[in-house]
Amino acid sequence: MEFENTLRFAKNLDHKDQLGKYRELFHFPQVNGKDVIYFTGNSLGLQPKNSQTYVDEIMDDWRQLAVEGHFYANKPWWDYHERLAVPLAKIVGAHEKEVSVMSTLTANLHFLMVSFYRPTKKRFKILCEEKAFPSDQYMIKSQLRFHGIDEKEALVEVKKRAGEHFWRTEDIIAKIEEVGEELALVLIGGVNYYNGQVFDIESITKTGKKVGAYVGWDLAHAAGNVALQLHDWNVDFAAWCSYKYMNSGPGNASGIFVHEQYLDKKDIPRFEGWWGTKKESRFLMKPEFEPMATADAWQVSNAPVLSLAPYLASLKLFEEVGMPALIEKRDILTSYLEFILNEVDKKVESSFEIITPGDRGCQLSVFLHGEGRSLFDYLMKNGVIVDWREPNVIRLAPAPFYCSFEDMFRFGEILETGILSK
Ligand SMILES: *Cc1c(COP(=O)(O)O)cnc(C)c1O
Repeated sequence: MEFENTLRFAKNLDHKDQLGKYRELFHFPQVNGKDVIYFTGNSLGLQPKNSQTYVDEIMDDWRQLAVEGHFYANKPWWDYHERLAVPLAKIVGAHEKEVSVMSTLTANLHFLMVSFYRPTKKRFKILCEEKAFPSDQYMIKSQLRFHGIDEKEALVEVKKRAGEHFWRTEDIIAKIEEVGEELALVLIGGVNYYNGQVFDIESITKTGKKVGAYVGWDLAHAAGNVALQLHDWNVDFAAWCSYKYMNSGPGNASGIFVHEQYLDKKDIPRFEGWWGTKKESRFLMKPEFEPMATADAWQVSNAPVLSLAPYLASLKLFEEVGMPALIEKRDILTSYLEFILNEVDKKVESSFEIITPGDRGCQLSVFLHGEGRSLFDYLMKNGVIVDWREPNVIRLAPAPFYCSFEDMFRFGEILETGILSK
């Protein structure tokens, strides 16, 4: 599509946008009396207006029914979490039974590593991407220490090539094959938080499995952003948070995926709790753990229903729209943003550089030459919410659910004024 850097063109795209009406279903913060241009849906998604109703429902049931709410609430609490599995399975490309909702992301990766990082004398290495999200680095290193393994020997980080801003699939694959029989686990962020790169989950998983390793993915920046087929790609396990592209609210519950081949097994190592035991006999309070035949076997505690309520509210919107429509809009919206950035860059003489590669979801990461922090402050003061990463990167994620083409155009105007006024 030929883009134009005009308000009329942007408005026309909004007019034709099938998802345009969803913008009104979200709450926008205000700056100078106007809705902000929100680029940080990759960090904390906006609040869907329906989430209040879902939370109020739990509060009302709790007030009126107290403990009876577990079984007699409008949506009974004891299996409330199961309502999330159907829409989540569609988002990540899984069978319903392969998905569960519990706890938080980093905690879940720890739990899943109990099952899928089982080092032996010979096979003990973990491969991840260089400069993974810090929480993932801490998680992996602490797991190694927990097993009494030296990280210097066991942690294999795949690097980018000198002068390049992205990882090459062939380099990751070559590294996996090189480590080979010593490789116990591949664990990578499916979409990199810093440069927005989408990894080739299918090929990397295939290679990891071929050398006999387990392969897991942190999908924090992937879930609700990119197309996923976890079951068909034969991924062993995955986890994601729900507060980024999935708009469930700050620090909210995480989702997990465990491939069908590991379900309904008693002998798999796992840290267990009562919500993972068969629900038919759960309240008989028997001493023996009988795992649920689904990914719920990994559930440890009874579900935090008050947090699941806004998550469920948001998933209703995902059910309505579906990932294919979101992805279609995402691609046009992000391309339009890229076009606008390039237009501004021409006028201000190469002030910045987009470091996100072609394999991308909705995020564009922009490396600022020279401007730096003061430009970030200018944008924030003028109602553009972006985020800042050291040394000199702003990340822009126009979430297709609620960002408009007009937002992209107006952002271009503000950015240009911001740079030229310096
Ligand atoms: C956001 C993010 C996290 C956050 O983990 P929490 O446990 O939810 O705080 C972890 N890993 C990655 C890759 C992330 O992007």
